[in-house]
Amino acid sequence: MDIRSDFHTHTNLSSCAADEVTAQALIDGLCGGSDGLRVLGISNHLWDSDVEGGSEWYAPQNVKHVLSLRKELESVDTHGARVLVGAEVEFSSDCRVAVTAEHAALFDYLLITANHVHMKNFIIPASMTDPDEVRDFIVKRFLAACDAELPVKCGICHPFFPMSFPSSENEILSGISDEQYGECFEKAKAKSKSIELHSSVFGPHLPHNNRIGAGDEYVRMIGIAKETGCTFHIGSDVHKPFALPGIKLREFAEFMGITEYQMTDF
Ligand SMILES: [Zn+2]
Ligand SMILES: [Zn+2]
Repeated sequence: MDIRSDFHTHTNLSSCAADEVTAQALIDGLCGGSDGLRVLGISNHLWDSDVEGGSEWYAPQNVKHVLSLRKELESVDTHGARVLVGAEVEFSSDCRVAVTAEHAALFDYLLITANHVHMKNFIIPASMTDPDEVRDFIVKRFLAACDAELPVKCGICHPFFPMSFPSSENEILSGISDEQYGECFEKAKAKSKSIELHSSVFGPHLPHNNRIGAGDEYVRMIGIAKETGCTFHIGSDVHKPFALPGIKLREFAEFMGITEYQMTDF
């Protein structure tokens, strides 16, 4: 299986990445060498300023800023890889995708983020800490994100990952029934939303696990998505030129029996 691709990566155009993570530095780290990526999608954080309701953190990360990557890419050495300009676009607290259709069309693809539940009092009320409530919130938003109609190919990034709830992560995920997952992934399939194989899946079944305890829940989740007939993309979510997470996700795809034919063609 050759699925040397990664569609969820950040450069210094994202406020959370270091200055030295230029497009060239990221591409050198991920696409260089004999085992380097063949396809790299760069997906910096985005809130289109034409959509009301953004936060102070998102304000500079607008369409013009994120698309400045195209100019930067004109003078990089891609080591033979195909490099796509995407974005990780936010989904508002009232379930609107934070990019206009007109601007969405300027990207090669988009990843919709429905579960940035670490953004307290912006995406989620800070008072919401009960695992049952957080679970309902995340499931509802997954379904709503699948319904987003945009004129480019879209994926859902870090599906169901309850960011910033490490102590209740397993409780939150194990409370999502097989039937609920089935409904969610049927919707994703019907609405052509790619399911991300994200670094959050790392669990006890992988040697480089860093989230011990939650792994089996991700295996159940992705197993149901596979049975439902969804397609997948790898999304390491690296914010620096660090190839290992993407390589481990390729191993995870193999572990799950996901073949190149089940990978999304962005
Ligand atoms: Zn994210
Ligand atoms: Zn990200």
